Amino acid sequence: SIVVTAATGALGRLVVEELLTRVPAAELAVVVRDKDKAADLAARGIEVRVADYDDPASLAGAFRAGERVLLISGNEVGRRVPQHTAVIEAAAAAGVAQLAYTGILGGPEADFELATEHNATERAILDSGLPYTFLRNGWYHENYTAQLPVVLEHGAVVASAGEGRVASAARADYAAAAAVVLTGEGHLNRVYELSGDTAWSLSEYAAEVARQSGREVAYSAVPGDAHLEVLTGAGVPEGFAAVIVDVDAAISRGRLAGTSGDLARLIGRPTTPVAEAITAALA
Ligand code: NDP
Repeated sequence: SIVVTAATGALGRLVVEELLTRVPAAELAVVVRDKDKAADLAARGIEVRVADYDDPASLAGAFRAGERVLLISGNEVGRRVPQHTAVIEAAAAAGVAQLAYTGILGGPEADFELATEHNATERAILDSGLPYTFLRNGWYHENYTAQLPVVLEHGAVVASAGEGRVASAARADYAAAAAVVLTGEGHLNRVYELSGDTAWSLSEYAAEVARQSGREVAYSAVPGDAHLEVLTGAGVPEGFAAVIVDVDAAISRGRLAGTSGDLARLIGRPTTPVAEAITAALA
C-alpha cells in the first residue's frame, strides 16, 4: 500500500485526492489521529489506521513491510522532533520500502528557526537507513492568500520580509509532487527542492491584490519588532508570531526564493502562479 500520515490535514487531503487519480482506493491507507475526521476517506474505500505522533505505541501498527509512506510533518512547532522520530522508528521497525518526508526548502541551508525540526527529522531518517525521498517544500501561496480578508480590511500587506522574494506554490502543487514520488520510480534516496517557478516580492504581491480586487492595497514593510507587535496585537500567540517574524527575516535574506524547477519537473507542468491563488481566494 501507499500510506499517507496527517491525511486529514490540508496538504494530506490534497495528496490523497492526487493519489486517487493514480491508484485504486484499495491500495491506499491513511494514518490519522482522529478516526471520525477520516470517515469520508473510509467511505471511499481507503484503509484508515489510527495513530498519534505523540504516542509511539499507537504507531506500532501504522505501517507494514514494503509500504511506501509519506510522513507529513506535524504542525506543533517545538514538539516535532520526538513526534517525527516516533514515526520514523515505527516505519523502520515495519520495514517500509520508502519514507517520503515533507521538509523545508533549502534543507540544511535553511538557517531559520522553523527549519531546525525539519533538518533534525531528515537526519533521523538518514540514520534510520530507510530508503527516503525528501520533499523540501517551499512556502504555500495559501500562507498569504489566507490573510486576504485582513489585507483588504486594512489596505495593507504588513510583513517584515523587506524586498525579499518568495518562490511559493499552491499546496495542491506540492501535493501532486508527493503523489508522483509515491507512485513513480526513481525517487529513492533523492532530495527535491520544491518551490514555485517564479519568486515574487511582497510589493508585487500587494500590487496584484490591488489590481484584482480594485482596492487600494500596498505593502507595509515594517521592522521585525513592529511586525511582532502587529501579530500579537491581532491575537497570534507570541511563540508563533516569533516564528513568523523569523521566517520573514529569512525571506529578506532570500532563503525562500530558490527556483530550482524541481516542482514543475516532478508534476510535469508549471506551478500555479500566485495571481491564480489570489483569484481563487477572492472568489
Ligand atoms: P495542517 O495544519 O492542515 O495539517 C497538519 C496535520 O498534522 C493534520 O492532519 C494533523 O492532524 C496532523 N497532526 C498534527 N499533530 C499530530 C499528531 N500528534 N499525531 C498525528 N497527526 C498530527 O497543515 P498542512 O496540511 O497545510 O501542512 C502540512 C505540514 O506542512 C504542516 O503540518 C507543517 O509541518 C508544514 N507547513 C508547511 C507550510 C509551508 O508553507 N510549506 C505552511 C504551514 C505548515 P489532524 O487532522 O487530526 O489535526
